[in-house]
Amino acid sequence: MFGYPAAFRNGNMFAGLFQHSMILRLSPEDRANLAVRAGARAFEPMPGRPMREYVVVPPAIVESVGEVQRWLAKDEIVVTFDPNVCIHSGVCVSGLPDVFDVSRKRWIRPELESAEVVAAQIERCPSGALQYVRKVRAG
Ligand code: SF4
Repeated sequence: MFGYPAAFRNGNMFAGLFQHSMILRLSPEDRANLAVRAGARAFEPMPGRPMREYVVVPPAIVESVGEVQRWLAKDEIVVTFDPNVCIHSGVCVSGLPDVFDVSRKRWIRPELESAEVVAAQIERCPSGALQYVRKVRAG
């Protein structure tokens, strides 16, 4: 992106470099958690034009491989669905209509929301047909 290296999953950028900084796309909760760290700031590739979901990673984190890996893993989630267990309550579809859209061939697209939001919605599935696993993206 912008001529700098970037990492994508399912066509969505989740991390990259910009000038001398590393940037991460994070959920609102994780952005808030990172924002309290010294050196973290909103990502503005052009002054006054912030990219809302991205945060510039503080140098102290960039210098720690373990910390970088932990932050890279923040938005990774794998969703499974068992049609034999589903009771067709519609809780998933009404809760996150972009992620759970039965009009699509691949009807579950967790990449359209943060992992935290998708996980919270899956935990509302009354039958247990939807399950998820959080996994480390890099390392
Ligand atoms: S929330 Fe669970 S039980 Fe309800 S429709 Fe979705 S998968 Fe099926």
